[in-house]
Amino acid sequence: MKIRLAADLQSDSIVDGEGIRTVIWTQGCPHHCKGCHNSETWDFDDGALIDITEIEEKIDNLKAQDGITFSGGDPMCQPEACSMIAKYAKKKNLNIWCYTGYTYEQLMILSKSNNNIMEFLKNIDVLVDGKFEIELKSDKALFRGSTNQRIIDVQKSLYNNEICLIDKYIIKDEIEILNRDKYMYI
Ligand code: SF4
Repeated sequence: MKIRLAADLQSDSIVDGEGIRTVIWTQGCPHHCKGCHNSETWDFDDGALIDITEIEEKIDNLKAQDGITFSGGDPMCQPEACSMIAKYAKKKNLNIWCYTGYTYEQLMILSKSNNNIMEFLKNIDVLVDGKFEIELKSDKALFRGSTNQRIIDVQKSLYNNEICLIDKYIIKDEIEILNRDKYMYI
C-alpha cells in the first residue's frame, strides 16, 4: 500500500494539534478553499508515492513526539493508507489528529459507500473539520484557520452518534456561541 505525500514527515510541530507532533502532509485536495496556504498540495498527481512501510519505519524512529497529525491536502482522500498508518501509530502510543476539508456530517455520508473512511475515523482522536473560510479567519482560533472549523472528539462522537466538540478549544465569542449551541461539549 502506498500513500501520496506532498512532503517528508515533519516532526516537532506545536501548531498542528496539541503537544509536540509529527505531521504527515498528504497530497491531493478537492476543496480548493479561497486563501488556502497549501495550494501546492491540491494536485492529485503531484508529490511522491511512498510505501507505508517507509512511513512506519519513520514512526519507529520518532523521538519525544506526542502524536501524529494528518494534514495536506486532504487525508480523507486517501483513507485506506491513512487508516493503516494511524493504526500503526496508535500501537506506538501516539495520538492522532486529522485535518480535513470535509465536514463530519459529509464524512458520515461518504463512509456509507467507502468503509475505509470509517476505519480511518475509528483511529482518529481529534478531527478538525470543514473547509477554510477566509471570511471567518481568526487568529484567536487555536489549531484551526477559521471559526467554522470544529475540533471534534471523534471517538466520543461516534459513540454518542452526535458531534462532540472539545470544549477547551472553543473561543467564547458571539459567532461561536450562536453557531455552536447545537453540539455536545466535552
Ligand atoms: S481543505 Fe485545506 S488543503 Fe484543501 S484547499 Fe482547503 S485549506 Fe487547502
